[in-house]
Amino acid sequence: MFEDSDFIKSCDVPGPTKEAIRGLLVYKSNVSIDDIVVDLGCGTGGLTVEFASRCEKIYSIDKNPLAIEITKKNIEKLLKTDSNVEFINSNGVKALKHVDNIDIALIGGSGGELFEILDLINEKLNPNGRILITSILVDTKVEAVNKLKELGYNPKFMEINVSQGKILDRGILMKAENPITIISAKKH
Ligand code: SAH
Repeated sequence: MFEDSDFIKSCDVPGPTKEAIRGLLVYKSNVSIDDIVVDLGCGTGGLTVEFASRCEKIYSIDKNPLAIEITKKNIEKLLKTDSNVEFINSNGVKALKHVDNIDIALIGGSGGELFEILDLINEKLNPNGRILITSILVDTKVEAVNKLKELGYNPKFMEINVSQGKILDRGILMKAENPITIISAKKH
């Protein structure tokens, strides 16, 4: 696992997803070395970097060309190789048409396409495949749960509140990070 401060950041691209959330996603996805992973909305590359060395192949998708650029830079800085990473600079729906046999779908951004994205992922997800959505907007959380239920999944919903301790002269001050929800589902 990497620390948040290891990543190159840009004010034009969100991320990286914070360390505690990255760790939980790696753990909850149960990723293994023969898995095909999709990182939809790769942003700064926080998840691509953590998953690339743990899976067979990862598709890093983002509609923002700057996100693809910074994800590439972080892979170059933090990993030995990007040979199992395929970058797709386009919106999720278009990008998913080129991807099959998904074992793990990480959704970190959907920008109004969530329903179509989940329909496509459901079609292309292997048996035992996992969907993990990280969401900060209340609306996305509700939409994601309802859509997954409609598609026949039994989604789990976990809200994570992390505070980091900052060591000051007079003691330790706890600083809260934004709460994030992880919505997860498994295909049977
Ligand atoms: N998990 C990332 C941060 C994700 S931020 C990290 O660890 O760095 C969300 C990203 O989703 C943004 O870069 C945004 O451009 C992208 N995004 C939002 N909607 C999208 C869509 N419909 N298709 C592709 N990318 C999208």
